[in-house]
Amino acid sequence: MKKCTKCGATPVIIHRKASGQILCKECFIESITDKVLKGIRRNKLIEKGDKVAVALSGGKDSVMVLDILNSLYERNIIDLFAITIDEGIEGYREHGVEIAVKNANKLGLDHRIASIKDYFGKTLDEIMTDDCREHGACTYCGVFRRWIINKIAREEGATKIATGHNLDDETQAILMNYLEGNIDNLTRIGAKSEPKSDKFTVKIKPLREIPEKEVALYAIARELDVHFDECPYSRESFRGEVGRFIKELSVNHPTIMFSTLKGFDKIKPAIKKEFSGKKVKIGMCINCGEPASHELCRACLFSKKINNEE
Ligand SMILES: [Zn+2]
Ligand SMILES: [Zn+2]
Repeated sequence: MKKCTKCGATPVIIHRKASGQILCKECFIESITDKVLKGIRRNKLIEKGDKVAVALSGGKDSVMVLDILNSLYERNIIDLFAITIDEGIEGYREHGVEIAVKNANKLGLDHRIASIKDYFGKTLDEIMTDDCREHGACTYCGVFRRWIINKIAREEGATKIATGHNLDDETQAILMNYLEGNIDNLTRIGAKSEPKSDKFTVKIKPLREIPEKEVALYAIARELDVHFDECPYSRESFRGEVGRFIKELSVNHPTIMFSTLKGFDKIKPAIKKEFSGKKVKIGMCINCGEPASHELCRACLFSKKINNEE
């Protein structure tokens, strides 16, 4: 029987092929928590006194972020609350919202829940069954969700927004943008956003170096209440295809996601230097007052189109 390479205990719950480590449940939880907190310090994601809003979907990633950041909240290092967006995806979202509520309540945290329909007039399902839609579900969802989260974060005085992006998400984004030639998007990938307007709250990704598999294992080991359902729209996306491709490569090359991320972080300053020529001026959306690079922000532009207001 295999023993934990850290403490010698049995049973073990993980064999990390990339490092050769074999860990029992306690050592695994400790190693993950350590890694996340060290990453937060190294990348200066959080400072003492920050008010952090966790974008809480109820999925394993965001619940794990909430769980780890709660340890900083309990030590009075930060203030913490959660924001949940109800996108209006039948058979998927209700469950997530319910679990998000449970998690926020369990920790005694403030929790704001907002729906895309309340702000923009239609649920994501309604947008997707409309013939005049011009984009994929993830585009509408992303634009509306970011707009609402940013607005609520500002209303609540948050200084940071923490999201659950893990190593798989991050390597997907790097590869996707590289494959599509979106160099401008590449320059924005990182542990911490660098907003062009002070009306945008800084976004941080505490799980950026944690593989998705280990996020799932952490949720199970900590007995967190999470939902593992996959968004019904995620299969349609290019991101999904790229994700499956990297996962397949990881089978025979277990360090591939780590090396993709590390290599990208090394080359990013050079990309930024070379491609920072295009300075977009950020003004104010004439409709909603949120930051925008055109007359209307993207959320208002989409909203007008889906509601046939132009
Ligand atoms: Zn151990
Ligand atoms: Zn607007």
